[in-house]
Amino acid sequence: MVHQPIGHLDPDFLTVMDEVREGLRRLFRTRNGLTFPISGTGSAGMEACLANLIEDGDKVLVFVEGYFGNRMAQMAERLGAEVIVVEQEWGKAFDPDDACEAIRKHNPKIVAIVHAETSTGVLQPVEEIAKCAREHDAIIVLDTVTSLGGVPVLIDEWGVDASYSATQKCVGAPPGLAPVTFHDRAVKVLKSRKRPCRSWYFDALLVKTYWGEDRAYHHTAPINMVFALREALRLIEEEGLENRWERHRINGLALAKGLEAMGLTLLVTEPEHRLPVLTTVLVPDGVDDARVRTRLLNEFHLEIGAGLGPLKGRIWRFGLMGYSSQKRNVFLAISALGAILRDEGFPCDVESGLAAAQEVYRSHAAVAVEV
Ligand SMILES: *Cc1c(COP(=O)(O)O)cnc(C)c1O
Repeated sequence: MVHQPIGHLDPDFLTVMDEVREGLRRLFRTRNGLTFPISGTGSAGMEACLANLIEDGDKVLVFVEGYFGNRMAQMAERLGAEVIVVEQEWGKAFDPDDACEAIRKHNPKIVAIVHAETSTGVLQPVEEIAKCAREHDAIIVLDTVTSLGGVPVLIDEWGVDASYSATQKCVGAPPGLAPVTFHDRAVKVLKSRKRPCRSWYFDALLVKTYWGEDRAYHHTAPINMVFALREALRLIEEEGLENRWERHRINGLALAKGLEAMGLTLLVTEPEHRLPVLTTVLVPDGVDDARVRTRLLNEFHLEIGAGLGPLKGRIWRFGLMGYSSQKRNVFLAISALGAILRDEGFPCDVESGLAAAQEVYRSHAAVAVEV
């Protein structure tokens, strides 16, 4: 990122762009031609996917199981869609059969769902839902902002039509770009629109003239961010994508086991729906949520997330994403939180927490859990 910027049409930069597009295809596990980074953060990727696919009056079914599902519904509404929201209790995943039933019942043009809900720590199984959407001739849009680079995201194998992510979560670069990918089924929708995309800046068919083969000016790419994304993609390939998934899985498991053994309760009760890159734990009764977070930051340089929406004040969110997903951080989190909770008058068993985490590492000794 600290390279001197070069021109956005400089032949050397065009090579960087090609590498980024190819790296993103490998990361998304897709062959989709229309794969590139939107200039903007994850929400820009969300807006780009929805604005390109939605026309006035289109029926859009949004599965909402947390804060970011809600954001999708709000955007779809602003874009003039007829939005149908199907809700799930925060902290639980949708049952694929129920989700499919909703698709059958409403017969929408577009189905939108979040893969990894960062507000709740739920990993939503999406393969069956994507299959069901396709069987009912709907376009499925998947939010992979928190999952991409941290847990398996298999765009082609699952049959996902459009997806967006962000650079600053498990991809491990600073915030500022939103990788997106569109399958030909989605591209067909873009090409058969009655009216052009409401957003000029995010119009994928216009941006394609720059990121595609023409290399014509559309807007100035954030050059140094593209440098950063290329480097992040190279680091992912150096580690190996599967090794990276395993690192995130084992560190997340060790943290979850450690927090439970300490005497805390996780929000997500079903272990198979726990998101290893974001662990949510209930704030114990009588403990001051904000004071604990402030103390973690000031005394241990450890920042954790607060609850959002209905979970405000009720949970803590521990992110183990990208570079931060390391064994040393798991032990730091358990011991620092334990020390502060004891000091705040909540008795917790730090020894058992550390031992439970250690046990996870011992039984997965072959996994590289540090970078
Ligand atoms: C962070 C996040 C977003 C929004 O991304 P920004 O980069 O903050 O704009 C969208 N969806 C999910 C699931 C997220 O975690």
